Amino acid sequence: MKLIFLGPPGAGKGTLAVKAVEILNVPQISTGSIFRSAIAAQSPLGLKVKAIIDAGKLVDDETTIELVKERLTQDDVKNGFILDGFPRTIPQAQALETFSTIDKVINFDIPDSGVLERLGGRRVCRMCGFNFHAIFNKPSKEDVCDHCGGEVYIRDDDKPEAVQKRLEVYREQTAPLIDFYREKGLLLDIDASPMVDEIAVSFKKALGL
Ligand code: AMP
Repeated sequence: MKLIFLGPPGAGKGTLAVKAVEILNVPQISTGSIFRSAIAAQSPLGLKVKAIIDAGKLVDDETTIELVKERLTQDDVKNGFILDGFPRTIPQAQALETFSTIDKVINFDIPDSGVLERLGGRRVCRMCGFNFHAIFNKPSKEDVCDHCGGEVYIRDDDKPEAVQKRLEVYREQTAPLIDFYREKGLLLDIDASPMVDEIAVSFKKALGL
């Protein structure tokens, strides 16, 4: 199954994706994680995008589209994939149509207050990218990932100034994708306010699983 996870930053797309990968047995493709790995490796891509991402802005369409286009040529996506954080603009969605089909778009519906609560406490593993929360889902040992032992840290773009920018960018550039995909009959809305196990139930129900 080929899915897009669409929603504001902090809606829980990455957290549900970890469960959805197990349910559907397809890989999660997170453009944000790919960019963060490139930044950690100080690759040319990483050096190019670091300041943009830290400021909460979007990487340019051309760079992002090329990255996803290349990723979708790899063998592990034969049976499908979950696109987490792509597309984020109408031009990205239009480009995607030229190199892949999509079965469904899961729209994570959550008010701004929920987003702020999640982003305010979000902690991420620097190595495997697993998401924790300072109150709701702490790592067993402070700042150490339960899954891989990596360092758990606060993303630079989860700091308050960047969060405001990301929400603004979401409203202006990404939210129009809701109507774009609704008009194509691909959109499935799920209530993203509850805890992840409950969201996973809605997710399976929405897909008829
Ligand atoms: P995420 O981990 O999905 O929240 O993404 C983190 C950051 O990576 C975003 O705030 C953007 O700066 C950048 N990014 C991720 N996906 C995209 C995309 N599809 N288009 C442009 N920038 C992106």
